[in-house]
Formats: sequence, structure tokens, C-alpha cells
Amino acid sequence: LPRVPRGSQLHSDTLSRPVRTLRVKMVLLGSSGVGKSSLAMRFGKDEFRNTSPTVGCAYLTRVVHLSNVTLRFEIWDTAGQEKYHSVTPLYYRGAHAALLVYDISQRETFIRAQVWLKELENQYTPGSTVIWLVGNKGDLVEDRQVSVQEGQSLANDRGLSFMETSALSGEQISELLLAVAHRVYECMGEQQG
Ligand code: GDP
Repeated sequence: LPRVPRGSQLHSDTLSRPVRTLRVKMVLLGSSGVGKSSLAMRFGKDEFRNTSPTVGCAYLTRVVHLSNVTLRFEIWDTAGQEKYHSVTPLYYRGAHAALLVYDISQRETFIRAQVWLKELENQYTPGSTVIWLVGNKGDLVEDRQVSVQEGQSLANDRGLSFMETSALSGEQISELLLAVAHRVYECMGEQQG
């Protein structure tokens, strides 16, 4: 085989200037049954499954292209740990974004979200992780127990971003992922000075 001159790879790279790819760890949190696995599936593969596929899966990946950077999302699901009302610190470690999910048709899950938020705040220094409050099952209009205003005002009070979604219909799923991507990228920039 002909010898490839040293450094030739480097040269071609600098000529084409590939877009940077950054790894983003995003964790899902919230009570059992709010739709975390379904959301993860939507983000990861853009599909909805009616059976819970959680167990045994560490994370799903999804690539998001912004104008001058590519973000490779690792989307972590709790794999049922929340049933024991706590998740291991390893789950949180190094997360750039956290989605705090409740079910708009179950008030209890909205109240629990505030407990999860305390746990999150123990794990992260403010500003280092982007936290989104997510009211899922927005399609269950007849069964709504938590109003949009309540979700929005909790988020405002606690300095979080807020969105309602439906993993079932797919509504606001790509909007949420894109909004998180922009915010995370902004935060990364701020942290690098
Ligand atoms: P997890 O325990 O938080 O991971 O919740 P799952 O993703 O397993 O979902 C719990 C149940 O809620 C399942 O029966 C899902 O099919 C259902 N579900 C999840 N997201 C939605 C949604 O947006 N709308 C409706 N109507 N049902 C949903």
C-alpha cells in the first residue's frame, strides 16, 4: 500500500472545517406513569409505543442540527427508579438538561414534580443545567386537572422553562427538543466565557 504522508488527514480536515458535534446528556424525571419513556421514544425515534419499553435501556440518542453546531443528545430515562422515590446520583451526573415531567390529567404528579425539583436542585448548581417543566398528555383535554397557567406560573416562580406536550399525538415534541437544544448550546457558550 502507498504510504499516506503524515498530517494529510489534518490538512483535509482543516480545509473542509467540519461542523462541531457536542454531546448533550438530557435526563427525564417525574412520577411513574407521566409518560417519560414515551417522550424518550418520541425524542429518540419519533414514534409512540403503547407498551412501556423502559427496562434495560440506558439511553436513546438523537442528533439535532443547529446553524453552526450539531448536538448529539443522549436521552436518559429513569428505568423505573422513580418508583423508589429517588434516583442514583450517577443518573444526574454531567447532565446538561433535565426534563421534569408531570401529567396534566393527574394533579398528584404536578405536586410530586415540586419534590423532584428539590432533589434536582440538590444535585445541580443553579444555571449549570437547563431545567424544563413539561406538562405531558396535553391531548387529554377532558381530563385536565392542572391548567396551563399553573404550570407556567410554577416555572416562572422557580426560574424554569415550560412547555406542554403530548407523546401520544407528537404535539410540541420537536419544538421542545429544539428549544432545549438552543438553550443548552447558549449555556455551554456562557460557561466557556
Ligand atoms: P413513565 O412511567 O413515566 O415512563 O410513563 P410511560 O411512558 O410508560 O407512559 C405511561 C402511560 O401513559 C402509558 O400507557 C402511555 O401509553 C401513556 N402516555 C404516555 N404519554 C402520553 C400522552 O401524551 N398522552 C396520553 N393520552 N397517554 C400517554
